[in-house]
Amino acid sequence: MLKLPRIVWDQDKLLHNAAYLDELCRKSEYPINWVPVTKVVSGDTEIIRTLINTGCRFLADSRIENLKSIKEISDSCQTMLLRLPGIHEAEDVVKYADISLVSEIETIKKLQDKACLLGVNHKIIVMIELGDLREGILAENLIKVGQFILKQSNIEWLGIGTNLTCYGGVIPSEEIMLELAAIKQQVERELNHSLEIISGGNSSILPLLMEQKIPKGINQIRLGESLFFGRESAYGKNIPGMYNDVFTLQAEVIEVKEKNSIPRGTLGMNAFGVKPVFIDRGIHKRAIVALGEQDVPVSDLTPLNRSIEIIGSSSDHLILDVTGTNTRVGDVLSFKVNYKSLLYAMTSKYVNKKQTSTEQLVGNNALTY
Ligand SMILES: *Cc1c(COP(=O)(O)O)cnc(C)c1O
Repeated sequence: MLKLPRIVWDQDKLLHNAAYLDELCRKSEYPINWVPVTKVVSGDTEIIRTLINTGCRFLADSRIENLKSIKEISDSCQTMLLRLPGIHEAEDVVKYADISLVSEIETIKKLQDKACLLGVNHKIIVMIELGDLREGILAENLIKVGQFILKQSNIEWLGIGTNLTCYGGVIPSEEIMLELAAIKQQVERELNHSLEIISGGNSSILPLLMEQKIPKGINQIRLGESLFFGRESAYGKNIPGMYNDVFTLQAEVIEVKEKNSIPRGTLGMNAFGVKPVFIDRGIHKRAIVALGEQDVPVSDLTPLNRSIEIIGSSSDHLILDVTGTNTRVGDVLSFKVNYKSLLYAMTSKYVNKKQTSTEQLVGNNALTY
């Protein structure tokens, strides 16, 4: 049964993007692995299954609930928790994450306690602050933290990592990556402990990867946006050869009428407490789509039909200018999503999720314009 609104995702395109990233890493001068980051798809079981079926043995997510879903699908898939663990969730972290990214001694202590209680080892990657000002310890404090970690019986210090272009917008450079590689050397020298993983960053590192400028020693990257959107996140450019339309949001038209573009009467606030501003388009053809702010941030959608323009929204209604189109009641309209609107759509219980493939869409005009 057709259930709308829905996110449809194209398995062929997703698999192509994954294979493309594999190939980019294979071509890199020094060995480097990429870990798929599934947070934007909110732990969607079909997508996780698809990635695992292609041979993926390692997935990362920022939510422990999503790591739990991954483990339920494949117990042997390694999981990495991207957001720093909360102290209150330490037990679940040890249960469902094989590796976590950490920056606080108190948290490491708690992970140690829980791992000890459960009789397991927990692996950690210590995040280093290299300019972006989100998570991470200052490099100058690493040796002290390292000494503490090495005393914990159930904590395995796997490596160090950094995350850029998330808060401060700092773009990864060869210099910053060399800094990270040098920190690894220093740890190995001063603490006589070898670090297996140096995790260099997220999709903002792709320009460096494509130019083969990731220095020796950086052997892991964590990729979400580039996998699902074929886009690097340093400059926001589409990556040639990758698909940026893996996902499409579809919803139904529930009213089409010629109406004025300016409301009549005394104007107060709209549904969100804002006094709206209107552009006078005269009498024009308007459509209402059964989709609203409760489903996705509507301003982060783009109608696939370029003649259609989004003019407003409330919690459950999306209002379009459909002048010059043959839009009718019952039509299913498609919208391109960006990272933010996909994140919301995948999280919403009102938005259905449907896997499809390129072939299935061909010849079904109602669904493709
Ligand atoms: C979200 C996240 C990533 C993936 O970022 P993309 O830009 O989607 O590739 C990597 N690492 C951490 C720590 C993250 O939070």
